Amino acid sequence: MLNFLQQDFARLGVEFARPVKAAALRDGRLRHINRRLSKELGMDAIVENQSTLQDIASAHCQGLAMKYSGHQFGSFNPQLGDGRGLLLGEWRDQNGELWDWHLKGAGQTPFSRFGDGRAVWRSSLREHLIGESLTALGIASSRSLCLLSSTEEVMRETPEYAASIIRVAKSHIRFGSFEEFFYQRKYQQLRELADYCLERYLPLKDPGDYQALLDMAVTNTATMIAAWQVYGFNHGVMNTDNMSIIGETFDFGPYAFLDDYDPEFICNHSDTHGRYRFSQQPAIGLWNLNALAYALSTLLDQDQLKNSLMGYQKQLASEYQTGLNRRLGIQGLEEKDVSLSQRWLNILATNQLDYTLSFRALADYLRDGEWQASFNALAESEDAQNWLRDYRSRIDGQSPEEIADRMDARNPLYLPRSHHLQLVIEASSRGDDLPLERLFDCISSPFAKQANDFGFDLAPQSDEKGICLSCSS
Ligand code: AMP
Ligand code: MG
Ligand code: MG
Repeated sequence: MLNFLQQDFARLGVEFARPVKAAALRDGRLRHINRRLSKELGMDAIVENQSTLQDIASAHCQGLAMKYSGHQFGSFNPQLGDGRGLLLGEWRDQNGELWDWHLKGAGQTPFSRFGDGRAVWRSSLREHLIGESLTALGIASSRSLCLLSSTEEVMRETPEYAASIIRVAKSHIRFGSFEEFFYQRKYQQLRELADYCLERYLPLKDPGDYQALLDMAVTNTATMIAAWQVYGFNHGVMNTDNMSIIGETFDFGPYAFLDDYDPEFICNHSDTHGRYRFSQQPAIGLWNLNALAYALSTLLDQDQLKNSLMGYQKQLASEYQTGLNRRLGIQGLEEKDVSLSQRWLNILATNQLDYTLSFRALADYLRDGEWQASFNALAESEDAQNWLRDYRSRIDGQSPEEIADRMDARNPLYLPRSHHLQLVIEASSRGDDLPLERLFDCISSPFAKQANDFGFDLAPQSDEKGICLSCSS
């Protein structure tokens, strides 16, 4: 037990999580520390005493394997639970808020099924970076405190090296945690879990106000997914066991940011029917919330469940439009903005233009009336000319420089795009961690140009576009 952590979830007992000792990684080595996170949460003294993190990786520390089930690609799987990660306990920050520490890649647990309990280097590195990137964009996400490598070999499609991260998140309770008790007809435990969530995440609500809990899940999930759509983030594995009850982006698989604007992009090679493709994410969010609502049907009546779910669409649409307007430098929210922004997206799709950098190019165009070379197609497109006329009339009366500056403060130059991650993974596998450090710094402050950035502000070459990864991790 780590004496600086609390054991708050542990008090719920063995029906909720099983005590397990982590299996130390062979030659566990600290490769990167997230100092922003440790500073923010007042963990620096612990993190800077590096032997603490080193010990967690290499000693057999005690943790909890949480039990859950979930709908995977639309089918219910009762046999889930932490198969390779352990909740080590909770850190209490300066404001009294609790943050879970979860060691991912901790070895086998009673829920490992046929798995080896490990996570591989490339997927651990990807998870370490993405939490920081989403956070910097203002999107709720779990984060990673540190990244460790090892010399332990594990088998995936090919042999790879095992690794681990310490994941820090406000919650590790999933939609699937409720489904677990509902389908087992353990309604008393279901209620206890809901009470735990209310006490921890909604302390100002009355005990037993389960509708407030579902409302929170609906609102926060809608807000989170709207922001994914605004920034072109494709999660890839939106199973209900990967959906956090408090609406934080969570449990990353083969995620990707869009390269060219292609709404039908599928980042997950194992997703043959495109269930979790980019354009489907809002609908899948609601499907998942329906699964959660069904699991809460012993606590709430039909009308209550419906009332909560009814809030989803409106919240998502308004957050999405607000987000797009901000990226376009449009102030306020008018009805015609929906079609104006949609036309912009259609132009990007038709001309196969880079989604992320198109907003920077538009801001540059406002400054000097010229398109950057890679956006030259817009100078010749009649649709683009018509659109620009309507756009200019919408932003009329404001200084173009001011609008452009405002846009740059919302539109990232740096994201952990697939081709950048490939470069970083390849370098780190040769023992060169400089690209990892630079990419981490770039995505942590994604809006301003940084020096020596290894070309992390560049779009992929045509043969590097639209990388689609397998689920194995
Ligand atoms: P994920 O795809 O990471 O969301 O995992 C889905 C389920 O499979 C969870 O119950 C995981 O704990 C479990 N799992 C994934 N990979 C492994 C592994 N290598 N060993 C044991 N369990 C695993
Ligand atoms: Mg998962
Ligand atoms: Mg220009």
